[in-house]
Amino acid sequence: MEVVARMSKKDRYAVFGSPIKHSKSPRIHQLFAEQTHQSFEYTAQEVLAEQFKESVDAFFSQGGKGLNCTLPLKELAWVYADQNTERAKLSRAVNTLAVQADGSILGDNTDGCGLIADLIDNHDIYMKNLRILILGAGGATRGIIAPILEQSPHQLVIANRTLEKARNLAEGFCDFGPIIGCGFAEIQGHQFDLIINATSASLYDELPPLTENLLAEAGVCYDLAYGKKPTSFVRWGVSHKAKKSLDGLGMLVEQAAEAFFLWRGVRPQTKPVIEVLNSARGFG
Ligand code: NDP
Repeated sequence: MEVVARMSKKDRYAVFGSPIKHSKSPRIHQLFAEQTHQSFEYTAQEVLAEQFKESVDAFFSQGGKGLNCTLPLKELAWVYADQNTERAKLSRAVNTLAVQADGSILGDNTDGCGLIADLIDNHDIYMKNLRILILGAGGATRGIIAPILEQSPHQLVIANRTLEKARNLAEGFCDFGPIIGCGFAEIQGHQFDLIINATSASLYDELPPLTENLLAEAGVCYDLAYGKKPTSFVRWGVSHKAKKSLDGLGMLVEQAAEAFFLWRGVRPQTKPVIEVLNSARGFG
């Protein structure tokens, strides 16, 4: 009886992070599960950095199959994994942990491919030959540089408040394509076809210092952050006549779909899920 009861238990997944209360990941994975006729449990758990190892050990030793890790745990997850995918090694951050057939833990980073999928598949934004600017040089930027350079842009500029971090990133990725790291002052007088905000300024309704003519005609703005209302950077894009000014909700759903594929071997459709989340926040 006990064996039958244990075997009939649902597979368990979770997202760990802090703060985690407003995470959309449980809802996204629930929608993927319904769409693909799968049944599993996916919960959100508040985990501080100092509790990380003990919490992840407990989750996997109790039969958990896979984890998403968000702020501030992605670098700890990269260290925790027994093996990391190439893209996780490059970004030195892991947002997805998966139990392998031999019981070892694989670390992956699906943020970069989530952004590329949202730009190309959902918004028809192709990066070949574009002048691209990334604002910010934190963990998220590290995860998106290589996938962007793979798209053969004309140039990728990383501008950051702390100059050294932008320069270090550019140096680290210079073998992948044309990349420059600089401070915000140095982008004055230049124009870009695609500006990606990867600073956390939007979370505080703030903006990095942006000059008036930074966005080229028919340029696109993309904020990795998202919220119930258009972010400060999305509003900046609209007021500077961006052809499109988008937030990172689509990227969130796309990175989740890639994690779902890694865990379940099935690729869910993302557009219907993005539509559900957008209509829940009153976006057309
Ligand atoms: P980090 O904390 O690693 O980096 C934050 C970056 O923002 C740093 O470059 C920092 O500059 C800069 N910054 C913070 N405040 C300001 C400000 N007021 N003005 C200018 N620059 C500022 O964060 P992450 O890289 O992990 O995340 C960045 C953003 O991306 C967050 O909004 C996060 O929510 C979002 N994100 C979205 C995802 C999605 O799926 N849509 C996935 C991952 C992240 P400095 O180095 O000088 O301190």
